[in-house]
Amino acid sequence: MRPTYLEVNLSRLKQNLENIRTKVAPAKVMTVLKANAYGHGIDGVAPYIAPYADYIGVALAEEGIHLREIGIDKPILVMGGTLPEQVPVFIQYDLTLAVSSPELLDAAEEAAQAARTKLKVHLKIDTGMERTGVHEYEAGPFLEKSLSCSHLGIEGIFSHFANSEMPDLIHAKLQLERFNDVLSFYEKRSVPHPPIRHLANSGAVLQLPESYFDMVRPGVMFYGVYPGREVKRTVEVKPALTWRSRVAYSKVTQPGRPVSYGSLWQPQSPARIVTIPCGYADGYFRRMTNRAQVIVNGKKYPQVGRICMDQFMVNVGDDDAKVGDEVVLFGEGITAEDLAEWAGTNEYEAMTSISARVPRVFVQ
Ligand SMILES: *Cc1c(COP(=O)(O)O)cnc(C)c1O
Repeated sequence: MRPTYLEVNLSRLKQNLENIRTKVAPAKVMTVLKANAYGHGIDGVAPYIAPYADYIGVALAEEGIHLREIGIDKPILVMGGTLPEQVPVFIQYDLTLAVSSPELLDAAEEAAQAARTKLKVHLKIDTGMERTGVHEYEAGPFLEKSLSCSHLGIEGIFSHFANSEMPDLIHAKLQLERFNDVLSFYEKRSVPHPPIRHLANSGAVLQLPESYFDMVRPGVMFYGVYPGREVKRTVEVKPALTWRSRVAYSKVTQPGRPVSYGSLWQPQSPARIVTIPCGYADGYFRRMTNRAQVIVNGKKYPQVGRICMDQFMVNVGDDDAKVGDEVVLFGEGITAEDLAEWAGTNEYEAMTSISARVPRVFVQ
């Protein structure tokens, strides 16, 4: 195995889930495992965490299919946009469809009827994200129509927040109010078994208890990372990732001998420069050049010179470092927030960009 790998602490994830559960009870928890479990590695995370999850959320049908193929039998909601022609695979793999338009509702009813089965769906309402879903002001006829789809099990109804992690919750509260208005349909119509209602992502789990309803959908906080710096940290969660590598080369570089492509950096006096066998093709962003820091032998040092596709250099100055020495790129004092800041992005992108080329090692 290559010396660059991602260590994933599974017990941390379980503890995070337990802490979230304690906070939101009696609401259930949908564990969001999209995007390769936010970069953590779906093949290790899903089998371990599935027994503790009430529901699993993914973005794509393919992600749901993959979970079925590795033996996950918990209910799985595919939350992202789905095309009508993809509906048959939902039936084939027992995936729950997010129905975000009257057209998709028709396609789902038709496909389920043709397969002589009942397909589980969650109705998607757009309360102010302007992404997918039926606008709350057009939801009445949509909900009405769903009641007459005899081949669909209308198991859930949900919406998604655009700003729940902000200190100012005005927009989130407006979305909540709109969602509540939509839900009043079920009382007015005295529907005997109203669907599971869910709305809260991580920001809302932390800041908006009124939005828990029957189930919550935490993603980033399940992985121990808070959604943004300003969010209230009302649940304790801890990161589970350590991105490790080892020194692959060590040499002294003289002033006047710039390091790496573009010759962007050179030392002022002779300095020991070590090469780390990891690069932007692994998700160690090129745009972190001359900004990132890494830990070599337990101490933080600056990354120097252009980050290459498969390697980058670190200046350990007058210190000693030799081939094989331990390196940490992320974890142990280097946070997702650090990576996000160096790369000019958010914590989500920093984690989900760690590419499949980096082996995942699961520990407990
Ligand atoms: C990704 C996603 C979530 C989880 O969001 P976090 O901010 O990571 O908690 C919840 N709901 C939907 C619909 C999503 O797409």
